[in-house]
Amino acid sequence: MLFVMKIGFIGLGHMGSGMARNLLRAGHEVVVFNRSREKAEVLVADGARVADTPAGVCSVSEAIMTMLADDRAVEQVVFGENAIASALPVGAIHISCSTISIALAKRLAAEHRRRGQRYLSVPVFGRPEAAESKNLLVVAAGPPEVVEQCRPLFDAIGRQTFVVGSDPSQANAVKLCGNFMIAAMLEAFGEAYATLRKADVLPHTFLEVMSMLFGSPVYANYGRLIADEKFEPAGFALRLGLKDVRLVLEAAEEFAAPMPLASLLRDNFLSAMAHGQADQDWSSVVRVAARNAGVE
Ligand code: NAP
Repeated sequence: MLFVMKIGFIGLGHMGSGMARNLLRAGHEVVVFNRSREKAEVLVADGARVADTPAGVCSVSEAIMTMLADDRAVEQVVFGENAIASALPVGAIHISCSTISIALAKRLAAEHRRRGQRYLSVPVFGRPEAAESKNLLVVAAGPPEVVEQCRPLFDAIGRQTFVVGSDPSQANAVKLCGNFMIAAMLEAFGEAYATLRKADVLPHTFLEVMSMLFGSPVYANYGRLIADEKFEPAGFALRLGLKDVRLVLEAAEEFAAPMPLASLLRDNFLSAMAHGQADQDWSSVVRVAARNAGVE
């Protein structure tokens, strides 16, 4: 039997638009809001209704998903004017999919609890193509009964769901450490390709060998993107990648767990920003190693 929920979806950027479309494809009733209204209007053809404010989304939803850029955007949409916190009915669920800080996830959990609402952190792995094709890896944490209630939504947007804990912020910790791993891989590609160019070996040739060692779509896809130097249009903007490196360092400091590699990544992302790469894909951080080696 099809399990249909009334869902609100806020934040229809690179990731959110595909996720909202897949909720509609799964048969859910979806009301959407985006700060720039035109991105919301596009989804009307897929069956979405458009609300004028985040509060307008909440009043008609059993659960709302947010997929916003960063902590500041989430704070504005949840606690600002015409916002979620004051409009979400008692018992309704806020599912935050954005990559945000552990501290904000804890605050969201506490504020929603205080208002009799429920909260889950459900960040995702996968790029916009994966969001569009329902291939995201979904990482969920929160009270087990709420996670189970929302499982059909996770099935609608991703290919597999991992439940990593009963405290929502645990999912944010997993997401931040996961993005750290990917950023470290990007840096490794950058340094290796720069050296190989000087050794007169084509990056694509090297990638063929490495793909046998590291058989993963993340390695293969980023390896190709970087070998092709295809940094525009951005699937994940470098300025958002820097945000995630900052957030993992913030967590490392909070837990007194040194992450020296993350500190190095932060400096390289800053260098890339200083060279005007904020809106290129975050894989363009490899240009820092290329510049250092004089092979850009
Ligand atoms: P994006 O394309 O830049 O979209 C950001 C969304 O946030 C847009 O809907 C934007 O509205 C909205 N927004 C930004 N500031 C706002 C504010 N102050 N008030 C209200 N709305 C605001 O970003 P994205 O690539 O979809 O990423 C969204 C989240 O998913 C981020 O946390 C990111 O780290 C995470 N993520 C991204 C990827 C990826 O590969 N792209 C993968 C996994 C997770 P406008 O349209 O009006 O600008």
